[in-house]
Amino acid sequence: MIQISFLQLLIGTFLALFVALISYRAKVLSRSGALAATLLGIVVFGLGGIEWALLLLAFFVSSSGLSKVAKGSKQKLVEKFSKGSTRDSNQVLANGGVAAVFVLLHLFFPQQAWPWLGFAGSMAAVNSDTWATELGVLSSRGAYHILSTKKVEKGTSGAISFLGTIASFSGGLLIAALAVIFWPDKITDFNAQLWWVSLFAIAFAGLFGSIVDSILGASLQAIYYCPTCEKETERTPFHICGTPTTFKRGWKWLNNDWVNAVCALAGGLFMVVFALVK
Ligand SMILES: [Zn+2]
Repeated sequence: MIQISFLQLLIGTFLALFVALISYRAKVLSRSGALAATLLGIVVFGLGGIEWALLLLAFFVSSSGLSKVAKGSKQKLVEKFSKGSTRDSNQVLANGGVAAVFVLLHLFFPQQAWPWLGFAGSMAAVNSDTWATELGVLSSRGAYHILSTKKVEKGTSGAISFLGTIASFSGGLLIAALAVIFWPDKITDFNAQLWWVSLFAIAFAGLFGSIVDSILGASLQAIYYCPTCEKETERTPFHICGTPTTFKRGWKWLNNDWVNAVCALAGGLFMVVFALVK
């Protein structure tokens, strides 16, 4: 029996609209991004509850904040990334769509732990990946290709760095800590003695998701080339300089948004497996 509180749904809708509006005004979200974030917020706040919303907000606030950190030194890398720092609807759904599915699954299995753990794992994965990207590019040491381990330019798809890996684990650990501290009362299927195992499992789910993201970025993700700048980029059809980019490698449909969605799914499934075997 699915139980939905209409008061909670009403409050959730109000809060989601409020957060989306502020983010739109602060240029963190585009118009379509604000719409998608409102829908996502209604599902997470309204159908999940405050604990679910806290994890989403921790991701949203920390990743939006980090994208503003050291903007000057990131400016030269903007040409590599497919999009700027204002998030559109595809980016919002790529990061939060899998989490929303876990909220809906929780409605069908309200006492069971796996939808909450899956939700936490997917949030940890997108948070790890965003923290790794936003902080990894600031690394003063080099970046290395995750598959060939050759030294590559910072910001290259599939590049990893020492700082980025530390940032990735920290981003997952933040979500993990919140997921364990704010464990919803309704979910009774949980052995309290396992809290620290769950903490590290969620943090590792985050790291796992961001590693999957890097491997896809290094292998199957669609990568383009700008003949004017003589550089690889995720941008298409035009590079930031205005030159049309040419397709270089990867699967054409597998853009950065799909890679992020797979990252979220990888983190979520990691925790579903954990919940089943623990
Ligand atoms: Zn160019």
